[in-house]
Amino acid sequence: MIKLTGIRKAFGKNEVLKGIDLTVDKGEVVAILGPSGSGKTTLLRCINYLERPSDGEISIDEFAVNCRKPAKKDIHALRRKTAMVFQQYNLFRHKTALENVMEGLVIVKKLAKEEARRRSVELLEKVGLSDKLDAYPSQLSGGQQQRVGIARALALNPEVILFDEPTSALDPELVGEVLSVIRKIAKEGITMIIVTHEMGFAQEVANHIVFMEGGSIVEEGPPKTIFQSPKEERTRQFLVRFN
Ligand code: ADP
Repeated sequence: MIKLTGIRKAFGKNEVLKGIDLTVDKGEVVAILGPSGSGKTTLLRCINYLERPSDGEISIDEFAVNCRKPAKKDIHALRRKTAMVFQQYNLFRHKTALENVMEGLVIVKKLAKEEARRRSVELLEKVGLSDKLDAYPSQLSGGQQQRVGIARALALNPEVILFDEPTSALDPELVGEVLSVIRKIAKEGITMIIVTHEMGFAQEVANHIVFMEGGSIVEEGPPKTIFQSPKEERTRQFLVRFN
């Protein structure tokens, strides 16, 4: 359902993605692992065109974007099919939790306010925040803010949710509550691509692991294979550090 073909991206002379091919099936949970600087976040951001790849093709369902000559309408279509959960949450500071979730429903989905409110309340309940509907981001912990970020992504009812290191800005004691929300929605069969350093979580929740290094995919496969019997020495060396 998502197909990346020959994705390249350079920042000046620094070639960060060196031709990435990746296919993600509907309902798959993909974890992208790899050392810092290997291009994981850039790849994720290319999928919804937050970064413009220098070459390659991105297709989601029937929409394909040729990155050499992208059509605006295809980029919009791509964006409508994706939602992103950011490392730093990226909530509107002057809006409450409820308003943050409603925003996309009213502005993007053009839902009537009452319907948007009803749906947002449901989603905030789902992420365990029914008692924080009227709280502003500054009144919430990092874990709570990230759960609002997840509710906001779910509100868009996307084909795929892209998680960019969703727990890396959190104090260690808050990581668990966010991972358990992600675990819960993974079980509902939503397609997800997660850049993470949480190896245990990746092993448990993902059904497709992608290991990147130096702007390329070194190895990919089911968690059991990658974690227990990786083919590539580089994968082995990376994983050893987390055991
Ligand atoms: P990872 O997520 O694996 O840590 P990134 O995708 O964040 O890796 O970064 C890969 C490389 O791209 C790094 O060398 C980083 O410095 C560079 N890079 C990322 N974003 C930008 C940018 N906006 N401008 C210039 N260089 C960037």
